[in-house]
Amino acid sequence: MFAVHRMATSHSLSSSVLLSSPSSSRTPPIRALSAAKRLVSSVPRRSAASELGGLGVRSKTRSGVSLVRCAVATESTQSARTSQAESLEETQKVEEERIVLPTNESSDRLLRIRHTCAHVMAMAVQKLFPDAKVTIGPWIDNGFYYDFDMEPLTDKDLKRIKKEMDRIIGKNLPLVREEVSRDEAQRRITAMNEPYKMEILGSIKEEPITIYHIGNEWWDLCAGPHVESTGNINRKAVELESVAGAYWRGDEKRPMLQRIYGTAWENEKQLKAYLHFKEEAKRRDHRRIGQDLDLFSIQEEAGGGLVFWHPKGAIIRHIIEDSWKRIHMEHGYDLLYTPHVARAHLWKTSGHLDFYKENMYDQMNIEDDLYQLRPMNCPYHILVYKRKLHSYRDFPIRVAELGTVYRYELSGSLHGLFRVRGFTQDDAHIFCLEDQIRSEIRGVLDLTERILLQFGFSKYEVNLSTRPEKAVGDDDIWDKATTALREALDDKGWSYQIDEGGGAFYGPKIDLKIEDALGRKWQCSTIQVDFNLPQRFDITYVDSNLEKKRPIMIHRAVLGSLERFFGVLIEHYAGDFPLWLSPIQARILPVTDNQLKFCNEVARKLKENSVRAEVCHGERLPKLIRNAEKQKIPLMAVVGPKEVETGTVTVRSRFGGSSGV
Ligand SMILES: [Zn+2]
Ligand SMILES: [Zn+2]
Repeated sequence: MFAVHRMATSHSLSSSVLLSSPSSSRTPPIRALSAAKRLVSSVPRRSAASELGGLGVRSKTRSGVSLVRCAVATESTQSARTSQAESLEETQKVEEERIVLPTNESSDRLLRIRHTCAHVMAMAVQKLFPDAKVTIGPWIDNGFYYDFDMEPLTDKDLKRIKKEMDRIIGKNLPLVREEVSRDEAQRRITAMNEPYKMEILGSIKEEPITIYHIGNEWWDLCAGPHVESTGNINRKAVELESVAGAYWRGDEKRPMLQRIYGTAWENEKQLKAYLHFKEEAKRRDHRRIGQDLDLFSIQEEAGGGLVFWHPKGAIIRHIIEDSWKRIHMEHGYDLLYTPHVARAHLWKTSGHLDFYKENMYDQMNIEDDLYQLRPMNCPYHILVYKRKLHSYRDFPIRVAELGTVYRYELSGSLHGLFRVRGFTQDDAHIFCLEDQIRSEIRGVLDLTERILLQFGFSKYEVNLSTRPEKAVGDDDIWDKATTALREALDDKGWSYQIDEGGGAFYGPKIDLKIEDALGRKWQCSTIQVDFNLPQRFDITYVDSNLEKKRPIMIHRAVLGSLERFFGVLIEHYAGDFPLWLSPIQARILPVTDNQLKFCNEVARKLKENSVRAEVCHGERLPKLIRNAEKQKIPLMAVVGPKEVETGTVTVRSRFGGSSGV
């Protein structure tokens, strides 16, 4: 959307390029809670995620932050189980004050501040580093960035740059708009020897070209908007956060640039609240916790974006999968297992080779036939449907699979468990009659709620997306299906927003975001009606008049993918999983090795009773206790001579002290 230089909405550059900052693709919108444990009101925002659907194109969530401070108290509102997950130390951090941070969407002033900050930073950089070439610098969630072609920067440089920015802000220089012809812009850019600026000028289609001056000292190609003068920025509400390498235009064949990220707010109080939130988010980073608790890894030797689930992560996944399968069977789903590859021909039929190719890996040749790793499970489930003739009496047919898929992602966009190349969708497809759509969707909503609640997610943001301009299927069926989705949501009693025209081309959909303990929102569940694939695969059933008809197909996922959901879970609980998910539920600690035999006996009995227990010894007791705490193990039993004598153990809960003998 706009960016410093070049850009700007009025110049209608492709917004996707400018929008995609790493921070916006990774970080979900943030909101946090107050000590009073109330939710901050949320800002509606658009999202379109069709990870699942037939030919969905994945899009990023634009995130506005709204958030706040004190993450912490929130979990206790969610369930007794989650409240367990809070440590004392966290609770002490709870602050009374509640701040709702504005977003770029909610505050035009803030957006102008951030946009202006990007220019001011570029001006400061060129003052200090005259050889630095400017490129682009958009506002983003929480702040702004700017890319420069220059020597690598250090943290020390950032401090100098911020100081120079403060000076520019202090001078209260006006931002003055000027319109020039393309030739004039070219002449000035040539004189300054700014090759990137020239390239940007080339991509601006409209004339005149707009330029913004900061005082008489510096200018940039831009279409605004800005604050009137640099003095409108509060220097105490601005911080330069980090510097990172970024390829020009995100293209690894183009030069590597220095990207400086900054955060900017309307006032100091907001900045503080944001920094507090950021710190809390960092503490919960699933990549760090994943390593500390030995849950998973991504190994260079195997390649980026490919996840190794270690024993402790794998047991959690097993528990999730187990419960997921059980609940699905209770809700009338049949389980499937299907292959990870298929003939390319299948992907031609499905349309993926024509419309989804950039997300798919190269084909492999097997006996002169081309095969393809699957990016989606849907065509397989259709093949299972097609194995026999169906009558209207068979419906609804619900099939579910924890289906692993592989999608091409640029290495630069990979991010822990959140953006990977191989992942397992908790996928399912429902084949039904038109007049069953409503009840089927309602059933999916119930099942979704049941599954999400057990993980402590009770707050959702729901979006219903309707027919886009370009779509397959006639108006009548779109109307029917959209009405069915709406009625199902109304039945369920959930409030939702309508995203007019935001549906996939193949059908309307419902997306659901869950809110984590920090108030951040994560797109996980999606339910999509599909009028396209049934037609492409020519699937049919026989109706009561013995005529062939086309069934309705619904794609849906509750967790999204196990990898990403696991990442969300780790951050939600900060690694402090509730008892039922804890990889090790109980650790038994002998005071001396004399009690070891008894301890092993206790552990064996616990395991026989499906309690995940282990014995730890070989260190002094206080160290053993500390280790167990570090590993966030919920229950501990210390065994001394007295316990051995009486054949008992005293159980201590990590959260609630002694739980008795
Ligand atoms: Zn600007
Ligand atoms: Zn599907």
